Amino acid sequence: MRRLPIYFLIDVSESMVGEPIAQVDDGMRSIIQELRTDPYALETVYVSVIAFAGKAKSLSPLTELNMFYPPKMPVGGGTAIGAALDYLMDDIDKSVQRTTADFKGDWKPIVFLFTDGTATDKPDKAIERWRQKYMSRCSMVCISIGENGDTAMLGKLTENVLRLNSTDVVSFKAFFKWVTASIKTSSMSVSDRGIDDICLAPTKGINLEKVDTRVATRIDENFAVLPARCSNTKKMYLIKYAKKTSEIEGLGELGFNPNYFRLVGAYPVDEATYEGMSNGKSSHKINTTVLQGVPTCPCCGNQYGFVVCECGNIMCHDGMRQVCPWCGTEGILTEGSGEGSNVGQGQG
Ligand SMILES: [Zn+2]
Ligand SMILES: [Zn+2]
Repeated sequence: MRRLPIYFLIDVSESMVGEPIAQVDDGMRSIIQELRTDPYALETVYVSVIAFAGKAKSLSPLTELNMFYPPKMPVGGGTAIGAALDYLMDDIDKSVQRTTADFKGDWKPIVFLFTDGTATDKPDKAIERWRQKYMSRCSMVCISIGENGDTAMLGKLTENVLRLNSTDVVSFKAFFKWVTASIKTSSMSVSDRGIDDICLAPTKGINLEKVDTRVATRIDENFAVLPARCSNTKKMYLIKYAKKTSEIEGLGELGFNPNYFRLVGAYPVDEATYEGMSNGKSSHKINTTVLQGVPTCPCCGNQYGFVVCECGNIMCHDGMRQVCPWCGTEGILTEGSGEGSNVGQGQG
């Protein structure tokens, strides 16, 4: 039996924390559930999931549909697209059977790459490797989640570059239905007609748009994600802010920064998993005066989930006395100075 290998290469960088990651978890489950009811897919499709942030990691090796359990996505710092591509190519070498003169190997692997940002490593070498040895014998579909994916870079990997324009729950659900439909039509077309190439489902009615990759992308940080630690449980959480631009006109000319960041939420992360997916620490700083909104602590429920200790780290506070979980200093809550403070930001 010739297998149809499907790879999911999924960006799990900090900006994906919260709703997007939850939607990807959910989407992977629905893809698998639905494919299991499809006779063509059941016979041919094998699935592999590779997650990447600062590092790439296999969450599931190439597995037949019936034996596949959708993994839970981790979160990490960084967007190492180069490392992710190298990981993918090494895995293709290892897991996909090639066709030779007297042996019919697997069908052309299909790779779905989901990303919401810009590479934080230097992916050029990996891109070159992909173009020389893999591009012609794999089908790749790159999906920029939201407007900040580096579509010009993705265009070097494949001509199938699409952008999911809105990232609300309904759009995500429709998008994953489209991925499922594309896998179904592709497995049917290899089984019935022996056409060894991807067959994408129509995108009509979905907020998914084919991108002209010759146009340079405007690369901009849409989110600020800050690591914090709970004073009571010592557990880590991430505080996520989304960038907004003030509607008051002329602020820029007056010397004010028209951009600010509004609170999206605070999310607990498993520290070991987070460290395992991150590559070093980020040196980005952001000033607290541009941040709007304070979360409660998602670990212990403390009212103040965003308090900056003298040591420069973010902790939660009960409003009375609390020991900093980063440096051990005990302190009471004081009003910060008008200048705000610069706090460490994730790598995105
Ligand atoms: Zn707490
Ligand atoms: Zn401290």
